[in-house]
Amino acid sequence: MSEKINLLNYDREGMQILFESLGEKAFHARQVLKWIHQHKVTGFSEMTDLSKSLRKQLQEVAIVAAPQVVFEQASKDGTRKWIMQLDCNNRIETVLIPEENRATLCISSQVGCALDCSFCSTAQQGFNRNLSVAEIIGQVWVAAKTLGGTRPISNVVLMGMGEPLANLANVQIALNIMRDQLAYGLSKYRVTVSTAGLVPAMQRLAEHADVSLAVSLHAPDDALRDELVPINRKYPIKQLIQACQDFVRNDHKRKVTFEYVMLDGVNDSDRHARALLKLLAQVPAKINLIPFNPFPETRYQRSPQKRIDRFQKILSDGGMNTIMRRTRGGDIDAACGQLVGRVEDKSRRALRQITVNLQERVS
Ligand code: SAH
Repeated sequence: MSEKINLLNYDREGMQILFESLGEKAFHARQVLKWIHQHKVTGFSEMTDLSKSLRKQLQEVAIVAAPQVVFEQASKDGTRKWIMQLDCNNRIETVLIPEENRATLCISSQVGCALDCSFCSTAQQGFNRNLSVAEIIGQVWVAAKTLGGTRPISNVVLMGMGEPLANLANVQIALNIMRDQLAYGLSKYRVTVSTAGLVPAMQRLAEHADVSLAVSLHAPDDALRDELVPINRKYPIKQLIQACQDFVRNDHKRKVTFEYVMLDGVNDSDRHARALLKLLAQVPAKINLIPFNPFPETRYQRSPQKRIDRFQKILSDGGMNTIMRRTRGGDIDAACGQLVGRVEDKSRRALRQITVNLQERVS
């Protein structure tokens, strides 16, 4: 039974190949994609423009199975959060942020995260595994189905749990489905992949997907970034900026969004702002300042609002398009860096931490 093919795992090309391998015409892929993603139909008997025999065959070999919603919460400010169960030990979180004329869905790409950024609560959870295509696109499917209406979701950002570029093979197919006119039909400016800076995968993304890029920068120099975003030790700022330049090279309308979390007394001085301006003069850029969202046992604090305003002013006066991300959904732990889901940590980070603590005590 469980060996059935989950059709949520396939983009248009994959589904065409699948139909051909079933001895059917490839064009049925178009019909089925529409049924699944536009009409949110999961039962093959309802797919009335398919022949009876094809419907029967699909019933025997395939299913449409999205992640199970175990919990749904709505914030006072309209933000909604879904907790989805993947298998017995793993849960992920998906957040919808409605604004006046758009609704942005923030989705997860991995269970936990292996990158260990020092200010992120997902990092504390450790890492378990990559999400499948069905689990990634399934979050969009579930949210759109719950919300109803014709185009309930205007933007998708891969800024939930996980590092999307560490799961590029699956993320790529999910992006194809988001962009496909037969599915969600989102424009390349409305689908954004956020990365902590996996340079080789950024290059692959640029070659294979037509989407927007956000980079979690958080520091203007390597010494500080090494500390906040440890992947910087492998791919330092110079390489990262080069990859950003390459990403936007063929599209003069495109800008890279640089995310910058405001950490009190760590990366929020006037000097940092000026260094940031200098660094980003090399790329078509906009900056998204994110007030730090605290979580239990963090050593950081959010910069005071006056400091954030001053930081933003230096950037704006320097000609940089800068916005401050309003914290949304804080009352339901749905804000940036607060998504924790439930992760059965396979990286054994917790164990390593205990060992380190013990060693410190002994020495
Ligand atoms: N791994 C990807 C996707 C996660 S996106 C990336 O790093 O870009 C989540 C965004 O929220 C990132 O910019 C991340 O740095 C930021 N973030 C993480 N923890 C945060 C916190 N506690 N407060 C505010 N922003 C945080």
